[in-house]
Amino acid sequence: MSDNLQIGRDGRLRHLLTMEGLPRTLLLQILDQAERYAADRRAEGAHGDKKHPVLHGKTVVNLFFEASTRTRTTFELAAKRLAADVVNLQVSASSTSKGETLLDTLKTLEAMQVDMFVIRHEASGAAHFFAQHAAPGVAILNAGDGRHAHPTQALLDMFTIRRHKPDFSKLSVAIVGDALHSRVARSDIHALRTLGARDVRLVAPRPLVPTGIEHLGVKVFNELEAGLDGVDVVILLRLQTERMLGAFLPSTGEFHRDFGLTRERLAKLKPDVLVMHPGPINRGVEIEGDVAYGERSVILEQVAHGVAVRMAVMAMILGGEAA
Ligand code: ASP
Repeated sequence: MSDNLQIGRDGRLRHLLTMEGLPRTLLLQILDQAERYAADRRAEGAHGDKKHPVLHGKTVVNLFFEASTRTRTTFELAAKRLAADVVNLQVSASSTSKGETLLDTLKTLEAMQVDMFVIRHEASGAAHFFAQHAAPGVAILNAGDGRHAHPTQALLDMFTIRRHKPDFSKLSVAIVGDALHSRVARSDIHALRTLGARDVRLVAPRPLVPTGIEHLGVKVFNELEAGLDGVDVVILLRLQTERMLGAFLPSTGEFHRDFGLTRERLAKLKPDVLVMHPGPINRGVEIEGDVAYGERSVILEQVAHGVAVRMAVMAMILGGEAA
């Protein structure tokens, strides 16, 4: 899938579709900009309402064809903190259920002077399709396309890791679970490798390992204990039963027995290991509830960082925010 649509001739970010092919310097610019927004927010306190009006007068449409809690809400908050006008379009209420094609939907909304679309769709490639057909000056942000990519999730994951463990070259990171159906896994792998992580592992039962994933620079483990040995970060993935067409696993109980992160297993890992999950979690499947909200977990930090990271991406694309 072509990714050079994302960067303009001037080297600036134009759309955000995938982590693939994004240069390290650009990733660092986004993370640094997000750091400035997060620091401002901290300085203001929990109920601060300061806006960074770089998107004043711009219109952002959240176009979600798939369910979302964290991503849609944090994109909305991010756009509002940048003073944009925001419209949330739910697929059930839209014309696509009446047979309108994706292209018709795009062109109809563009006619209303939209500046940016944040799109989530079950089809891998949907965001690329929009970017290919968008009018000049209209930006597309991929908020998750099928199994393909979820770039802002990867950015907020990198942001969260970097706050705790700044040197990616020293990190061992294990991504555990349903990588076959996970756009987060792919985007995280690209981002980690681009930022210099040398030891990136994928730990999963054989049926949930995507063919050829080793070519992205990951080591595959089919056994949890070996896969987690000595790691600094564990990123757990949700079992995506909604994308499973056949029987991939004997049962979720068996998956938990062999691959679930329990308190006992966590106790054997490094004392400063980070436990991450993009959410929504399946308690008692890939993670025990106590571990999800335990002291090694940064899962809620990930959610909070989603706002600053999404502000940074939007500001860099639409607001001309210098990085
Ligand atoms: N929320 C993430 C996504 O949209 C992860 C998941 O759904 O499991 O891909």
